[in-house]
Amino acid sequence: MAVVTQAEILSVIEHTAEIREYILKPDKYRRFEAGMFLQLSLEEVDSSDYWPESRTFSLASYYNEEKVIRLVIKKVGRYTTRIFNEVKQGSEVTIKYAYGDFILPVFDQKNDIVCLAGGTGVTPFFSFIEALEEQNELDRLKLLYSAKKYEDFIRLDYLKEKLNNDQLLLFTTQEENKETINRRISKEDVVNSASNYQDAHYYICGTTDFNLDFKEKLEAENLKNIYLDQWE
Ligand SMILES: Cc1cc2nc3c(=O)[nH]c(=O)nc-3n(C[C@H](O)[C@H](O)[C@H](O)COP(=O)(O)OP(=O)(O)OC[C@H]3O[C@@H](n4cnc5c(N)ncnc54)[C@H](O)[C@@H]3O)c2cc1C
Repeated sequence: MAVVTQAEILSVIEHTAEIREYILKPDKYRRFEAGMFLQLSLEEVDSSDYWPESRTFSLASYYNEEKVIRLVIKKVGRYTTRIFNEVKQGSEVTIKYAYGDFILPVFDQKNDIVCLAGGTGVTPFFSFIEALEEQNELDRLKLLYSAKKYEDFIRLDYLKEKLNNDQLLLFTTQEENKETINRRISKEDVVNSASNYQDAHYYICGTTDFNLDFKEKLEAENLKNIYLDQWE
C-alpha cells in the first residue's frame, strides 16, 4: 500500500540550470522496487487529506540503509518551476509512494538488462544500478544513454565508476564530442549491446517519441521483453 509522508530535503545539487538532484529523507521510509515512482506535492498533507496538486518523479535511488530518496527533476513547466523556486535544503515536501511496474525482471536473474535512456529518462536507471549492485548482478546491465550535449549527462562520474566501457555507451545528438558517439542510438547499438539479445530485457525511458521509436524497432526484431516508462 502507498504511504503518504512528509520528507525533509537534505540537499539540492544543481546539474544544469534546468536539472537538479534532490536528496529527501522521508519520515516514513518503506521498501520499494527499483524503477518505481512517487508523487510529490509542495503542500503539507497527511493520508486523511484530499491529495493536492502533485507531480510524478522516478525514484533515482534504491531502498538503502541511509533511508534517503534521490530525485532528479527537470524544470519544464509550471509545477517544476515552483519546485525549483520553493524547495531548498531544509524544506519539507509531501510524498506518496511507491508506484509502478517499470521494475527489474522478477523471475530472470541471468539475462541482460539493456536500458535505453533519453535525457532525464536516465533517472530510473540509477535505482536499477543500485539494486543490481546489491544483488551482485550489475554486470547484467547495459546503459545506452543519449543527451543533446555532453554537459547534459547527469551523474556521469557515478555512471563511469559503476559501469565499464562495454556497459555504458554515451551518445550526443547535438554536439561533436570525442568522448561520445555523435549520433542517435540505433537499433544495431541496442541489439549488439546484449550478449543474448533475444532473451535480454529492454527498458526504455525518454520522450514519447524516443520510447515509441525504440518500441517499434525492437518489436520488429521479435523481441519480447520490452518495458516503457511513459512520462507524458
Ligand atoms: C512515471 C513518471 C515518471 C516521471 N519521472 C520524472 C523524473 O524522474 N524527473 C522529471 O523531471 N520528470 C519526471 N516525470 C514528469 C513529471 O511528472 C512532470 O510531468 C513534468 O515535470 C512536468 O511538470 P510541470 O508541472 O513542470 O509541467 P506542466 O506545467 O504540467 O506542463 C506539462 C507539459 O507541458 C510542457 N510545457 C509546459 N510548460 C512548458 C514550457 N514553458 N516550455 C516547454 N514545455 C512546456 C512540457 O512538455 C510539460 O511536460 C515523470 C512522469 C511520469 C508519468
